[in-house]
Amino acid sequence: MTTPSSRPRIAIVGYGSQGRAHALNLRDSGFDVTIGLRPGGPTEIKAKADGFTVKTPAEAVAGAELVAVLTPDMVQAQLYTDVIEPNIAQGACLLFAHGFNVHYGQITPRADLDVVLVAPKGPGALVRREYEIGRGVPSVYAVYQDKSGKAEQFALTYCGGIGGARQNAIKTTFKEETETDLFGEQAVLCGGATKLVQAGWETLVEAGYQPEVAYYECLHELKLIVDLFYEGGITRMHEFISETAQYGALTRGPYIVDEHTKAQMKKVLTEIQDGTFARQWIAEYKAGNANYKAMKQADLDHPIEATGKKLRAAMAWLSTAPQPSAQPASSTAANAAAKTEQAAA
Ligand code: NAD
Ligand code: MG
Repeated sequence: MTTPSSRPRIAIVGYGSQGRAHALNLRDSGFDVTIGLRPGGPTEIKAKADGFTVKTPAEAVAGAELVAVLTPDMVQAQLYTDVIEPNIAQGACLLFAHGFNVHYGQITPRADLDVVLVAPKGPGALVRREYEIGRGVPSVYAVYQDKSGKAEQFALTYCGGIGGARQNAIKTTFKEETETDLFGEQAVLCGGATKLVQAGWETLVEAGYQPEVAYYECLHELKLIVDLFYEGGITRMHEFISETAQYGALTRGPYIVDEHTKAQMKKVLTEIQDGTFARQWIAEYKAGNANYKAMKQADLDHPIEATGKKLRAAMAWLSTAPQPSAQPASSTAANAAAKTEQAAA
């Protein structure tokens, strides 16, 4: 006999990167999962092809004991007001994969609900693949509102269902998850790393070196170094690189990341903590994303992209081996369609 808290009926709203992975993993873990999507939306076909019952977001939400909100962050506030709050059952559990909207006050969940967060520390395709091979990506979880007294249990049950608890499930808060997730992606992972790679490549090319050689040095080989970090930290990198590379890294690294860089990182963090970043991003989205689209296009048009495209065509292993960010072809297309639609929304 299952009880609602041990095996809640789950509605997942959104079937993109995280939504699809959570849904498939939870179903394989024995949960009753319904997908909520706008009829005719870009990922509806994919969810149906994967064998799920697809309902409108309102219908899916109404029938669930746990509602996972896995749409893009910028549509969640309106979705909550228009669809979730009017339909979600009394005392149900509302779950997010990122604390943005609750932490920045864009969503004020109804008082009768449990409100939790489960955020796998990896993209959806990896969440699915790790589950399939019997592992899981590390996750963080948090409780914002505990009406039933079982909110933490809901979060851990969900975390286990998607495979996250198999590895590590670290308890956090909505504030900590939101602020650290934004900081990591802005300062180090997505923002810092791309600008470091582009500036390094530009420096070599402007000095007259071949763009292809510069690509290998500044982008391609970054993966080899990051793999060492991932497996055994900076210690492992030092074990594997030459003494010359070590001495160069130790003496020249601080030329690049110096006190000014660290001060800039603190500025990034302050703008996250005081809400400046969130207000700016929400305003940009509401104004139609003109700046966002233009800046993204500049990244896509950077000449390192053309160099890399040409070189990668000769890397046979890239077309055969599954890549961490890769999705099955149909899912990639569906996600691309979803992102385009979302950008146009
Ligand atoms: P996504 O863009 O890949 O997918 C969005 C899905 O929502 C699509 O199915 C789309 O059709 C649907 N959708 C869009 N607007 C909708 C609406 N108004 N009503 C109903 N459905 C709608 O999204 P994602 O990257 O999986 O992000 C989902 C959540 O997960 C976000 O909160 C994000 O911060 C969080 N998250 C993402 C990652 C990641 O690696 N992508 C990692 C951790 C947490
Ligand atoms: Mg993030």
